Amino acid sequence: MNIFSHILGLPRIGSMRELKIAQEKYWNDEIDLKSLFNTGKNIRKSNLKIQKEKGLDFISVGDFSWYDHVLHTSMMLGNVPNRYKMLEDTCINIDTLFRVARGFVTSEKTLHASEMTKWFNTNYHYIVPEFSKNTYFNFSWKQILEELDEAIKLKFHNIKPILLGPISYLWLGKVVDGKKFSKLELLDKILPIYRKIFLEFKNRKIKWVQIDEPILALDISKRWLEAFIYVYDYLHDKDLKVLLTTYFGSIAHNINTIKDIAVSGIHIDCVSENSELNIIKNKISKSSYISLGVINGRNIWKSNLKKIYEEIYDFVRYRKKIFISTSCSLLHVPVDLQLEKNMDINFRQNFSFAIQKCEEVCLLSKALKENKKSVLSKNVLKNFYKESNLYGLCSKIQEKHLRRNNSYDVRYTIQNKILNIPTLPTTTIGSFPQTKTLREARLKFKDNKISLEKYHSEIKEYIKNVISEQEKLGLDILVHGEPERNDMVEYFSEHLQGFLFTQFGWVQSYGSRYVKPPIIVGDVYRKKPITVKWSKYAQSKTNKLVKGMLTGPITILLWSFCREDISKYIISEQIAISLREEVKDLENAGIKIIQIDEPAFREGLPLRNKFKEKYFNWAVNSFKLSSSVVSDQTQIHTHMCYSDFNDIVEAVIRLDADVVTIESSRSNFKLLKCFKKIKYPNSIGPGIYDIHTTNIPSVSDMKNVIKKYIKIFDVKKIWINPDCGLKTRNWKEVRQSLKNMVIAAKDLRDKI
Ligand code: GLN
Ligand code: ZN
Repeated sequence: MNIFSHILGLPRIGSMRELKIAQEKYWNDEIDLKSLFNTGKNIRKSNLKIQKEKGLDFISVGDFSWYDHVLHTSMMLGNVPNRYKMLEDTCINIDTLFRVARGFVTSEKTLHASEMTKWFNTNYHYIVPEFSKNTYFNFSWKQILEELDEAIKLKFHNIKPILLGPISYLWLGKVVDGKKFSKLELLDKILPIYRKIFLEFKNRKIKWVQIDEPILALDISKRWLEAFIYVYDYLHDKDLKVLLTTYFGSIAHNINTIKDIAVSGIHIDCVSENSELNIIKNKISKSSYISLGVINGRNIWKSNLKKIYEEIYDFVRYRKKIFISTSCSLLHVPVDLQLEKNMDINFRQNFSFAIQKCEEVCLLSKALKENKKSVLSKNVLKNFYKESNLYGLCSKIQEKHLRRNNSYDVRYTIQNKILNIPTLPTTTIGSFPQTKTLREARLKFKDNKISLEKYHSEIKEYIKNVISEQEKLGLDILVHGEPERNDMVEYFSEHLQGFLFTQFGWVQSYGSRYVKPPIIVGDVYRKKPITVKWSKYAQSKTNKLVKGMLTGPITILLWSFCREDISKYIISEQIAISLREEVKDLENAGIKIIQIDEPAFREGLPLRNKFKEKYFNWAVNSFKLSSSVVSDQTQIHTHMCYSDFNDIVEAVIRLDADVVTIESSRSNFKLLKCFKKIKYPNSIGPGIYDIHTTNIPSVSDMKNVIKKYIKIFDVKKIWINPDCGLKTRNWKEVRQSLKNMVIAAKDLRDKI
């Protein structure tokens, strides 16, 4: 019986966000390279120590990343976008890496950053590799070897390096120069580099290497699937064992190919839906190791180790060559529960963050090795707060609660008459830049240093100014600017029942951006109105219409850690009912336009086609449950961004929002094609400039964009707005951009 414990990777941000702090200081020229490198080294050292101290049999190296692991794989393979190659007189260095990730602006030129997109269905974003038929590869960035040597020097043993596999790497990238070719054609140029690296591993007496090929859990074509046979035959080496690592879903549907891949072990995700141990049991040769990803790497609850033990016991005894592990990298959970000193113990005892998950892996593997179930705790979660009333409420939802009274065409006519909306109406997505005074006031209020009244008067002051700014700019539909919110999910979860917050529960979203997801620990409901007073106040300051602003149920759900004792659908239904009450209250308070943001709508989409419809059904229903409570004359908007709309456009139609505003300018308006193809029936605000850069769009540029839109959509159904909220920009940029935007819209409006 061979049972080993390991994990697929730890968070690389440091328990106190050390990496972010150092990166940002380095970017601002406040610290030098040496000091940045030192921070990285300390984080790595501490991660190595954690793994060893907790007792893992294999110690992972290669999970650290200066920005993103897909980007560092590009660097490793020498795949720097051409526009950046010109800059580098010598070889690739860390500045190259940061520039590709963040863009590079000098007085002469602006080099745009590589695109960033979601890592499968997580809230982590990776830098998309760029390929052309002629892409040239060489082993350029030797981080993996340096980190290996570093760990060896520190006297760690049984080291298991981690690499992103060549096929997933290609799959995740995009072809940039237009010439059609299959990315798989590049494999032959990449494989010699992997082989070279394998050789280096062997020189360092490495026994196992973890190669991540998560695309094996997707629906991939036969060509891509067959590439696995070819690649791993090529890389096969009797002295270096490959652990082919999959996650984010079952691989059972691809098993007939996977069983023939020449590797020494396969890691499977046993937590995501439909992981079929039975299929794996006999299909994969018994000479191969199976790594069982049984500890959930994507949520923060303690595992029920006894239950897992029972579930895998027969499998383990039968197969005999086993690794015990986490379902995926621990990148997706916070670092250390121990830091949460202020958290109520009744809750805390139910949680497990990255470091605690290492302990769980070790404990479970110890019990299996020693055949001793008794060492495991039961970990039955018993502290969910349940509101008996709510269950009654959910069961009362009927079809009629999920639709507006009349169809869009009827509503369109009524709204246009009552709301008096001009052609090509101008608006914004909600947030405006927050001021220093406001941020300080929020902090002071949270620290009990100023009173609620004082804090609220700061917010009111801001709203008054933001309304007057928008009036001066000549915008048609105004917003209150969201000064009361730090973050669009945090704010609502703080004002709803059923959520718990951490102090240090940071998770990397991209590069130096981390989020602190709230934890849903009980039934979600609304005790009292949340945003109504702010919207009402804003409306009282102007004769123009002010748009109410809410975060939608799917986004609140997906950007939180969820309870696991009830289905996601029930949780999103509870959130939707709370928002429905808020929407009704806004309407009653005289707010005539209400926007419900759903930037995470696309993210919830399951990775496999066969599960998509089920998701759409509950996601669309939740949105409609929250929004359909209003009368025909109240206009519902929704906003989505970071999205590839191709897969979701039909569901977006089903949401039946009167207006959808989307992000489209960053992807060069590619996103619009699908809306055109499907003849999007309601109104649309396709975002006429990119708010993610400091560029000020000119009137003529924006007019050209609008003209493009007029060719695609019915001019009477186009809204003119930036492509996302403005809180990341400064006031100067915002004023100039919006001024130009309003001129562009008005110029064209007059000609129609
Ligand atoms: N209303 C939000 C804002 O303007 C929307 C943010 C988002 O799309 N992520 O900031
Ligand atoms: Zn947005």
